[in-house]
Amino acid sequence: MNILVAGAGGFIAGHLVKSLALQGYDVTAVDIKSQDQWFQVHNLKNVETLPKSDLRDKRVVKSLLKKRKYTRIYNLACNMGGMGFIQNNHIDCLESVYIQTNFITAMREQQSSASIFYSSSACAYPQDIQQDVNVTAIKESDAYPANPEDGYGWEKLFSEIITQYGAKNESMDVRIARFHNCYGPFGTWQGGREKAPAALCRKVIEAQKNKTQEIEIWGDGKQTRSFMYIDDCLEGISRLWESDYRDPVNLGSSELVTINQMVDMIEQIAGTQLERKYLLDKPQGVRGRNSDNTLIKKITGGWEPSVKLFHGLEKTYSWIFDQMHQ
Ligand code: NAD
Repeated sequence: MNILVAGAGGFIAGHLVKSLALQGYDVTAVDIKSQDQWFQVHNLKNVETLPKSDLRDKRVVKSLLKKRKYTRIYNLACNMGGMGFIQNNHIDCLESVYIQTNFITAMREQQSSASIFYSSSACAYPQDIQQDVNVTAIKESDAYPANPEDGYGWEKLFSEIITQYGAKNESMDVRIARFHNCYGPFGTWQGGREKAPAALCRKVIEAQKNKTQEIEIWGDGKQTRSFMYIDDCLEGISRLWESDYRDPVNLGSSELVTINQMVDMIEQIAGTQLERKYLLDKPQGVRGRNSDNTLIKKITGGWEPSVKLFHGLEKTYSWIFDQMHQ
């Protein structure tokens, strides 16, 4: 199997390339970033790393698909980050819509027989039904009537739609996962694109290192979320391929926590207790969200993400700790 992984310099795709290569597949890895900025580079003989390529440019995507006959394409390329980035960069986020559009239209023009995976997001769900911390877990059919996250969420919805057209009108073999907050080692933990788990691990480590014994939390800490460890994400993607389901599916943990509870866990891992300073004017996203896993369980024979948040945070904390002390 010849596999193309787009966004391979990023967090999830970096893990995916490694996992696919270790399973013996031939993997071509591509990203807009130069290799020295990739989170992971795998020096394995069955991984080919391409020079930096902007997949928003259709000519680039067309020539990629002409260069080799891929059996499967994973598109995880996207200009995104945590709430701080998403809420301040609507146009940049929306512009990633070209990437999946280019893949589907180029595949159609070249009559490609490749299967394609698209990484959507829980940010595709309407904001107005996520305004309570006491959430009803969100299910796939809740996506419409649409009112997704500004910029980023619209990119996800549109890219889902063109992928679904690819399946329905062009008989393409597609899979679409709506990821709910994925975290783990080898992800962004500083610089403005980091998400809550990595940001909070970093802040706890900083507080100890600088002996401030204080932590800043965006919002009142009562907002609720679920967080999926990277191993579950990879397992879920693999199980989606085994299913025959071509419409969007939630891929997320259903272990709901408040941000305060996540901070409790990180403090416990670090062996500390910090004074909490709540920054109510910072971006917080929706008030509450959890993943309804009825559908994924149905199409995968009962599977759903199962790594406990505490366990995943231990590994993430330890990796960020090493990065900060290098
Ligand atoms: P990431 O930012 O770590 O990786 C995305 C990669 O895409 C980056 O390396 C980036 O350089 C690359 N990229 C951006 N624009 C590109 C372009 N024009 N051409 C080529 N490459 C480009 O993000 P991630 O956390 O690994 O997320 C991967 C996918 O999963 C994205 O589609 C994201 O929207 C989706 N997702 C992630 C989460 C999460 O919690 N991590 C949640 C929901 C959805």
